[in-house]
Amino acid sequence: MTKKNLKKLIICLIIVTVLAASGLIIGITAANKYTRYEIDMTLDSDKMVLTAAQSVDYYNASGIGLDVIKFNLYPNAFREGAKIKPYYDFDISYPDGIDYGWINIAGVKTGGKALSYSVGGADMNVLTVELEKTLKNRRRQSIDIEYSVKIPKTHMRLGYYGQTVNLTNFFPSVCVYENGAFIECPYLPTGDPFYSEAADFKVTLSTDRAYTAAHSGDKVSEEASGESRSFKFSGKRIRDFALCLSESFGVKSIKSGKITVNYYYQKGDLNVAEKSALTLDVLTFFGEYFSRYPYKTYSVAETFLTAGGMEYPNLVFVNKDLKESDKDTVIVHETAHQWWYGIVGSDNLKSAWMDEGLAEFSTELYFAKNSRLLKALEYYQGNYAASKRFDDIIKEINPANITMDKGLNEFSSEYEYVAAVYSRGHLLFKDVYKTIGEGSFKQALRSYINKNQYGIAHKENMTDAFNEYYSGDIRIIFGEWISFTKNY
Ligand SMILES: [Zn+2]
Repeated sequence: MTKKNLKKLIICLIIVTVLAASGLIIGITAANKYTRYEIDMTLDSDKMVLTAAQSVDYYNASGIGLDVIKFNLYPNAFREGAKIKPYYDFDISYPDGIDYGWINIAGVKTGGKALSYSVGGADMNVLTVELEKTLKNRRRQSIDIEYSVKIPKTHMRLGYYGQTVNLTNFFPSVCVYENGAFIECPYLPTGDPFYSEAADFKVTLSTDRAYTAAHSGDKVSEEASGESRSFKFSGKRIRDFALCLSESFGVKSIKSGKITVNYYYQKGDLNVAEKSALTLDVLTFFGEYFSRYPYKTYSVAETFLTAGGMEYPNLVFVNKDLKESDKDTVIVHETAHQWWYGIVGSDNLKSAWMDEGLAEFSTELYFAKNSRLLKALEYYQGNYAASKRFDDIIKEINPANITMDKGLNEFSSEYEYVAAVYSRGHLLFKDVYKTIGEGSFKQALRSYINKNQYGIAHKENMTDAFNEYYSGDIRIIFGEWISFTKNY
């Protein structure tokens, strides 16, 4: 090697290092530490059964050798005889009466060789795959799973109704490994009991009906043959993959730079132009305020749902039956989740206030900054009043160790969960914003994203980011809100 070439090599290395540090070349650096999913699936729409072959290229980031890998099996929560039910209100969840769903594991292999596995957990919600030999830290393991999923007729997040199918939490999803154990997620009725790490996805779907598909990731191709459709999707660094299929979808797409925003509406909806424009505006606002939206596709799908809305990577659901002004609010809140849940993950099972509280405050922020001051004020006041009302109840009951920061299974009701996590969570972030000022708040959030993007942030990661831009100790303010000792 000549000296001249060595100089060139050094310059190249410097450029590569700088680009890698700035995250501009995803392929060379961090992409290797993500688990990869390839799912090939067929939907039989008469039986509402999905048949799938799923290859998982698991990356062991646990820090230790692993002898088993665990997967969450959410669809089993819908089976007959389930002990943990994913809903509070039967009539709202099953308007036409009970209909069951399930996931059946047909086989697990690696390199063509069968692996031992079992289905268990708190309520048949976990697949445990035994590895042939210990998987060392930072090594990969391929696992092929064949399975079928019965989609129940329900208004919930996994379900079909009329001409529409909500296809979410349907596939065996690797459990997060933390503090020496895989975190198993029973499908509790409270909140969003889903916890996962960012991964890369390739998904194909064949259907026997002329469905339009709203999806996570990007659409690579779509082919039509008579009533049949086949789709290919691909997504990088997303922490879940969800779809909403409908024969009654219209779609309004707007392209802005490299990003395509799709608004999937039930045909006949007259406000689609306004709603799709709002969606793009919100995504653009948060992209400028927080950090660039790093994906090419973002979609909103209006569908049946027991809740007002629900977030997935690159895709959110909005309850089609909401009134128009409420749909606006849901679009803003769910779009904020693309950052607080999507880009920066957090533990929904234990610290749901981290993403829900911040998504609530982000909603107020969007309205306040976009000439809808009255709406911003009403939104804040609504959460303020709800939080105060709940404080009065707490004073009456006077429970020991009251806290916002607790497991979904520890909330006594959906009411307590919403008051503590959403309403009080909103007030916490508003207080931090007012205390450290807008400039510092913005910079702290950017630092929070920068240090935790595509990963999972815990409470300490969040307070560390705010403390970088605060002369005092922000943990005191967080602590007062979390422990219900704050005067306001
Ligand atoms: Zn939310």
